[in-house]
Amino acid sequence: MSEQRPEAQDETPDTSFVPALDARQRAMLAEMGVRVWAPRDDSPARQTTEPVLPDRATATPAPQRQRAEASAPLVAPVAAPSADRPRSSLPDGVEQMDWATLRATVASCRACGLCESRQNTVFGVGDTQADWMVVGEAPGENEDRQGEPFVGAAGQLLDNMLRAVGRSRSGAGDQGAYIANVLKCRPPANRNPLPAEVTQCEPYLARQVALLQPRLILAMGRFAVQALLQTNEPIGKLRGQVHRYQGVPVIVTYHPAYLLRTPTDKAKAWADLCLAMDQ
Ligand code: URA
Repeated sequence: MSEQRPEAQDETPDTSFVPALDARQRAMLAEMGVRVWAPRDDSPARQTTEPVLPDRATATPAPQRQRAEASAPLVAPVAAPSADRPRSSLPDGVEQMDWATLRATVASCRACGLCESRQNTVFGVGDTQADWMVVGEAPGENEDRQGEPFVGAAGQLLDNMLRAVGRSRSGAGDQGAYIANVLKCRPPANRNPLPAEVTQCEPYLARQVALLQPRLILAMGRFAVQALLQTNEPIGKLRGQVHRYQGVPVIVTYHPAYLLRTPTDKAKAWADLCLAMDQ
């Protein structure tokens, strides 16, 4: 691994007491310098903390779980807007779209100015039956070019983190993780998403959650947390609790790009993954 070992972990991490991990996963965590722990059944960390925030008032009731990519569209595909200028609102009916219609609608979206500079929209990747969903921030340069979330260095770390908990973006069901971002288009020069962009794009994410009906959402980084939980509280304050979005448990953790810059916090991210596994 190219990342520096966390300074606080200068002895060989003891990963042997985590029964859910196989030898390969333990070796990888040891390589990360992460000392893992498995909370006792009665320990506070294992208990599901009630949400500190209410469910979003706007949450769409989740429909029956379905292989939506393969099912018939619930509404007719929305034609791409003909205007050259960005529209001021999303097409109608997003909250009823099936996967295929939603993907096509995102691909032709011109609801905000980001459509002017994008190369590709970045809809999401993974099995639509995956029971975990990872929510990141916005596409970067590589993602914009390839049309897939988390394909750069941060994506490699995310893949390693998922592998450590027995999941992957190509895995199915309880071995999978569906990965999507708050924004479907790259902000120019990787600037932070603007509040108006987040507000504009959020219905797409809300619909992805409603279609996927994940068992758990991992919210990675400030913008994912802000969009899902409608709070400006820092990650450090929100970690270690189980929040809710559309009734789905949400675990808050650091963004992989932050972890690449701050490897000493990888141990905290591992603790967050352990909490996620306990749900
Ligand atoms: N960072 C994100 O939050 N999402 C991506 O897709 C890539 C980097």
